[in-house]
Amino acid sequence: SATIIDGKLLAETIRQRVADEAKRLGITPGLTVVIVGEDPASQVYVRNKVKQTEAAGFHGSEHRLPESTSEANLLKLVQTLNNDPSVHGILVQLPLPDHIDPDLVIRTIDPAKDVDGFHPINAGKLAVGQDSLVPCTPQGCILLAKTVHPDLTGLNAVVLGRSNIVGKPVAQLLIQESATVTVAHSKTQDLSDVCARADLLVAAVGRAELVKRHWIKPGATVIDVGINRVADGLGKSRLVGDVAFNEAKEIAGAITPVPGGVGPMTIACLLANTLKAACWAEGKPAPTF
Ligand code: NAD
Repeated sequence: SATIIDGKLLAETIRQRVADEAKRLGITPGLTVVIVGEDPASQVYVRNKVKQTEAAGFHGSEHRLPESTSEANLLKLVQTLNNDPSVHGILVQLPLPDHIDPDLVIRTIDPAKDVDGFHPINAGKLAVGQDSLVPCTPQGCILLAKTVHPDLTGLNAVVLGRSNIVGKPVAQLLIQESATVTVAHSKTQDLSDVCARADLLVAAVGRAELVKRHWIKPGATVIDVGINRVADGLGKSRLVGDVAFNEAKEIAGAITPVPGGVGPMTIACLLANTLKAACWAEGKPAPTF
């Protein structure tokens, strides 16, 4: 049965390293998180982000805006944060209410402070292989995969999902690591066969337990990005990934659990990005993790 990849432990190690590096460099990175509305999952994410930012010795702050906030007012706040030298990283929590255009908000963030890595400038830099702020969850996926394969060169990697937030940047990073990359999605034919060719399978589809045992090549490494809330039959709910974990772990060589896999890595990489942005702002070389 598969090795369970401990994302919680690796995330802890990285957060510690980031905190140590900031201290060594004499930098106090500042991260500001903006949240609009009352989405309960977003509230939890934002609380955790700010809590762990402060635990790393960074300066964390939070702007909570009501659901009714106008797009113009949100853009004005982003511009104020762009101009505030104590703010090194700006994160606007998604999803935003329907009356606000998320792409416009993302494009308004100073690319040098875009610690989510979603600005088209950063997406473009990633695509052409320039140093940039790289989306956090994809970075986490690569670090987790490297605990099993320190060198990803030549591996057959299949990325399931092509979103701008996860699938596409994961594929870009894997190309950079010299893996052979296939991107599969909702229009892919013979999806289970495509997945079954993967030495490394990254699932980011947002469909509870879509990936079954026979989709997995024996011994493959499986990175499960999905976070899906499902009824547990006892009137409560539980979180499951995009992979049917219990059957998958019987055939995979290594697999990340949900929760406790990719999730904790996202915040660790957010802190690493914030340190990077702060180092750039202060004209110091940024450490890598
Ligand atoms: P998304 O909805 O933007 O994209 C989903 C992708 O999956 C699309 O490209 C679509 O083509 C593909 N897809 C959907 N249904 C499919 C199917 N039946 N077969 C094949 N492909 C299919 O989602 P996203 O933002 O990329 O997020 C994916 C999942 O990852 C979600 O569960 C989300 O909650 C989770 N997520 C986790 C973290 C984390 O920190 N762990 C961060 C971001 C997203």
